[in-house]
Amino acid sequence: MIDVLLNLKLLFFVVFFFIFFALEFFYNQRNTERKFSRLLFHGTFAIFNTIIMRIPSLFLLLPILLITNENKFGLLNILNQNFLVESILGFLLLDFSFYWFHRLNHVNNFLWRFHKVHHLDTQMDVTTSLRFHFGELIISSLYKSVLILLFGIPIVLFIFYEILLSLSAQFHHSDIRLQDKADHYLSKIIVTPKYHTNHHTVALTSRNANYASILTIWDYMFFSQKEADPKDREYLGTQDREKQFGFITNLKEPFTDN
Ligand SMILES: [Zn+2]
Ligand SMILES: [Zn+2]
Repeated sequence: MIDVLLNLKLLFFVVFFFIFFALEFFYNQRNTERKFSRLLFHGTFAIFNTIIMRIPSLFLLLPILLITNENKFGLLNILNQNFLVESILGFLLLDFSFYWFHRLNHVNNFLWRFHKVHHLDTQMDVTTSLRFHFGELIISSLYKSVLILLFGIPIVLFIFYEILLSLSAQFHHSDIRLQDKADHYLSKIIVTPKYHTNHHTVALTSRNANYASILTIWDYMFFSQKEADPKDREYLGTQDREKQFGFITNLKEPFTDN
């Protein structure tokens, strides 16, 4: 059954990625340049990361999921509620925890070294959602394992959350223009492309804010929702403008001293 779910995750990932990629040609807000070389560059990240992440998936996440569910470890198992309540609660706990993980990635110097690679991109489109240093992904696997054990996350819920998380990441990184009104209301609930653009500005006030992954409620709850100046939203990335491309340069980035 896990096999079916994981294949479903891959299917959703690939199909929606190319739907967003195609939509960007018709409804873009920034007219991102060099789209195909960006696809190639960030696609290299995706392939490289998929291969490396097989190891923590097979030897850490899957065993932890199985052990937790077989032995009924964790908060949700203690509470022993019906399927619906358990799923909603589990979903909220995961999204809340991912909010804090992302926030920690920005305030902790060690974690920022890895997460910075995502922010070195001076533009932002759906391909940016593929751009993560494998170090960050490995650390996030360790974090996820702790969450699964602590909260007693069911296998189906975990994979469902992962699917939604990757679709949300594709959507909010995509260079798609929503109508202002639609964006205004939607961003009160979920992260929209404009909302996440605030997080990719060079300007620190909005970059060190807007951390939500799926639900924006956490930013409102913990006072980290900050609308960027429209001018700032046009200047994305970090002060470091030279390192956005170059695969090896990006892999080495966390281990350099500047
Ligand atoms: Zn970030
Ligand atoms: Zn991002």
